[in-house]
Amino acid sequence: MFSKVLVANRGEIALRVIRACQELGVRTVAVYSEADAHAPHVREADEAVLVGPPPSSQSYLVGERLIEVAQRVGAEAIHPGYGFLSERAWFARAVRDAGLVFVGPPAEAIEAMGSKTAARQLAIAAGVPVVPGNTEGVKDADEAIAIAETYGFPVLLKAAAGGGGKGMRIVRAKDELAAALESARREARNAFGDDAVYLEKYIEGPRHVEIQVLADQHGTVLHLGERECSVQRRHQKMIEEAPSVAVTPELRARMGATAVAAARAAGYVNAGTCEFLLDRDGQYYFLEMNTRIQVEHPVTELVMGLDLVQWQLRVAAGEKLPFAQKDFTPRGWAIECRITSEDPSNGFLPSTGRIDYLHLPGGPGVRWDGGIEAGSEVGLHYDPMLAKLIVHAPTRALAIARMKRALLELTIDGIETSRGFHLRVMDDPEFQRGDISIQWLEQHLGALTAPRHDAETVRVAAIAAALVADAERTGGRVSSGGPGAPSAPAGSEPMSAWAALARREGLRPA
Ligand code: ADP
Repeated sequence: MFSKVLVANRGEIALRVIRACQELGVRTVAVYSEADAHAPHVREADEAVLVGPPPSSQSYLVGERLIEVAQRVGAEAIHPGYGFLSERAWFARAVRDAGLVFVGPPAEAIEAMGSKTAARQLAIAAGVPVVPGNTEGVKDADEAIAIAETYGFPVLLKAAAGGGGKGMRIVRAKDELAAALESARREARNAFGDDAVYLEKYIEGPRHVEIQVLADQHGTVLHLGERECSVQRRHQKMIEEAPSVAVTPELRARMGATAVAAARAAGYVNAGTCEFLLDRDGQYYFLEMNTRIQVEHPVTELVMGLDLVQWQLRVAAGEKLPFAQKDFTPRGWAIECRITSEDPSNGFLPSTGRIDYLHLPGGPGVRWDGGIEAGSEVGLHYDPMLAKLIVHAPTRALAIARMKRALLELTIDGIETSRGFHLRVMDDPEFQRGDISIQWLEQHLGALTAPRHDAETVRVAAIAAALVADAERTGGRVSSGGPGAPSAPAGSEPMSAWAALARREGLRPA
């Protein structure tokens, strides 16, 4: 095993990797931007090195500087986390050329899966079913129309270099195609510097089901079952679970074998994920392979009982996987909610500010993978995902009840978050039945994002508002304490947590 690893990331995933290293007895080196000088990942690592100003293009994305830091501090490996440099083939290659280990797949595998059109060609050659469509960028609108007519409308235009849902356009009729192609090209050029756009059949009402893959350097490639990630907004995942209500053991085995075939075709090593669309008839289609650890990896860890990040490090260090495929059957049910600094009742507008109070849920089956603490400043430089709340329970119904309980325990004051939205989803009868598709959230957005006042909170907030008003009238103070009393942040007025609660529920002016 390595003796020292540089963690080329920030936020919750940096902490996640640091924790995995600590348990393996590996020393860690954090890197940070000026905006993150007081971030938890900086404090938790054994060493920390400032790498630049707040914009990630001048700090977390400056690969050469990170490699130079790793060499200077004597780290043997770099873990890229997700996002940032994790899927840049040039970075994986530069790390290797510098005599260090990239904790991820070989640069060649990242390249093979990096372009959607190249990945589709590779998948087809490996006998993997892909969404019907073409495998090269279209020349012009006439060619696009001709191709679309062979598959039938609706079709989906996609950027070959795409990611994060950018450069995608649904086209429902022939006369909309030329304009949609133009705007998809423009968006792709701006986002990726590459305006190649191809075309897929648009699948109506499918689920997003992905398969976790784990491969070592000695030829073993295993799959760790599926994650269902259909609760999406603008093609971005919000809630993930494992297993999926739509996947039988037989389908799991088939999709798993397909994912393993795709990984083998790419010469894959380390942890990766094959994403599929699963239609209502049980047909599945390969979308793409993500060549890194995913945000939603904890749900797989909980139902399969292993630490994926530790295995990433072990495999990168050359260890053999000691498992066989038959060792992996999901146990119980896990759900993850992404806690973001976005305001659901205001179109998911990013919210910024200081987290002045944070209370984390606990108890049986609750896991918090976060990168924030009371006092953290949430700005606009980085991704709005602050943390992931994950639960594990014997059944899906119990997991939903547990998630709801954990969300009610969670308090984040000072900024708006997605917490209330997740509570509404947990209460939704269709979600509870598992009757969801990738369009489900968008179709129910209005009902799921209205401000939420659960009875309990409103009662407590009403008491808080009365106490605060009374204290103001008499010039006294409300002291915190007693069962259920929110504790005030250190150094502030003792009653400010009460006041904040009353304000949040709209019972006191801001
Ligand atoms: P990106 O890399 O930009 O995230 P993906 O190919 O992974 O793009 O697709 C993102 C999401 O878009 C999927 O999870 C799914 O919700 C939707 N999607 C992609 N392809 C199709 C398709 N052919 N038909 C219907 N929905 C699709």
